[in-house]
Amino acid sequence: MYKLILNLQNRGQLSCGLSTYNKERSLLISTYKELGAVNDVFKIQCPGKTNKIFEKYSGDRGIAHTRYATSGFARKEEAQPFERMHGRKYKWFSLCFNGNIANYSELRKHLLDKRDYHMVHNNDTEIIMHNISRTINTLSEDTNKAPDPVDIFSKLSEKMDGAYNIGMIDAKGKVMAVRDPLGFKPLCYSTDNEKSLFASESVALTHCNMNHFKFLQPGEILINDKDETKVERYAKCEKKAHCMFEWVYFANVSSILDEKSVYLARTNLGKEMAKSEPLELNDDFVVIPVPDSSKPFGDSYAFEVGLPSKEGLVRNRYVGRTFIEGCDRSNKVEDKFTVLKHITKGKKVLLMDDSIVRGNTSKKIVNFIKEKGQAKEVHLRISCPPILSPCFYGIDMSTIGELIAPKYFKETGEDISEKACEDIAKEQGADSLVYQKMENIPKSIGLPKCDLCMACLNGDYPTEWGCKLYEKAKKNFKNGIKERTYEC
Ligand code: SF4
Repeated sequence: MYKLILNLQNRGQLSCGLSTYNKERSLLISTYKELGAVNDVFKIQCPGKTNKIFEKYSGDRGIAHTRYATSGFARKEEAQPFERMHGRKYKWFSLCFNGNIANYSELRKHLLDKRDYHMVHNNDTEIIMHNISRTINTLSEDTNKAPDPVDIFSKLSEKMDGAYNIGMIDAKGKVMAVRDPLGFKPLCYSTDNEKSLFASESVALTHCNMNHFKFLQPGEILINDKDETKVERYAKCEKKAHCMFEWVYFANVSSILDEKSVYLARTNLGKEMAKSEPLELNDDFVVIPVPDSSKPFGDSYAFEVGLPSKEGLVRNRYVGRTFIEGCDRSNKVEDKFTVLKHITKGKKVLLMDDSIVRGNTSKKIVNFIKEKGQAKEVHLRISCPPILSPCFYGIDMSTIGELIAPKYFKETGEDISEKACEDIAKEQGADSLVYQKMENIPKSIGLPKCDLCMACLNGDYPTEWGCKLYEKAKKNFKNGIKERTYEC
């Protein structure tokens, strides 16, 4: 499990933890979690301490998690897994979760007002935990026996709106992995004679020598009980809504998500972008991808236009990704990158980046390349179309006010105008800006548009609560409310 989460830190570096099951231990489930990156939490610099942690939490099955906060705060208590202890073994469980519950405020209100609950953490993982526990109680009322996990999650899916991939273990040693009925977030698994593993991304499985993996389908649950692993359907999947941002930015470039390679998707985005390059390019230009996630995009664009792709911007490996680190992103850029002046000086730089969300980071990079790198011009080429609406499904950009593009372009559902691009380029300090066209997203990923969530690009939310929250986000924006839309 240490190795699995070590390779999933692109999905979160705020905190991590695990829960294991061991029937020889009085604490049948035991949970360890801390703030920090995986190697820090497991004290890899001090092998003696690492071994003590591994011994204390040893077991033959468990769940583990790395956190990126889209709800709640950056505190140790909110690190996952969340364990709920109980004397009845099937009611004692621990869970971890990837995604975001769009109707969080409604579910929370129900528990507080109608059921007299007290919330300790005020985040959606706590809401899921209470709802699972209530469902187990309701389903076992007459029988006094552990309910079928299929029934538990079938009931829950009637209440929950949003993106939720859940890993869960109970004190009978049953392990479950659940993918929400729309399949927003990726989830894959692999089984051999010795072990069954599941993870958000295939890269984690391949690092554990599991090269033959399958993808849990939206609305499916994987159940590992004793030595048997089975996959069952717990909810109908009427449509799919895989998050396009996973391929464009979020996922590890080595991963395959729902049969589609992240690397190839990013390469295709570069090829498509090259087709709409408006400038007459010559030897004065150099292509520089922002490392690391924009490299395949930048390299394939450069290949198509016949220019070299150079490492004019070098990433300092010892500073985390700015986007997932939360506040004050702009100040991190100078720590994060070194600009190679002998590549940029006097050049017209085509700066290839995966996305512009708030615009703080790219503005700082443009300025950095012009000032420190002494580039003559910087032209932004962005592999993702403009982010015009918030996300309520697991990427932390839930308000309109924090996004740069809606300040200049309001026609969601259409490709951005040239005038808006000029205005954003000006704000960014860039000489020109070209965004990816929307039609190139499904084409580059290799999935039909109807199987993707592209709500942050076109305002077309695939769930009822996504639509409701979008209306609320617009009102909040008008009224100057800055809190996360689903939390206020
Ligand atoms: S709104 Fe955007 S970021 Fe959020 S799930 Fe949909 S595609 Fe992904």
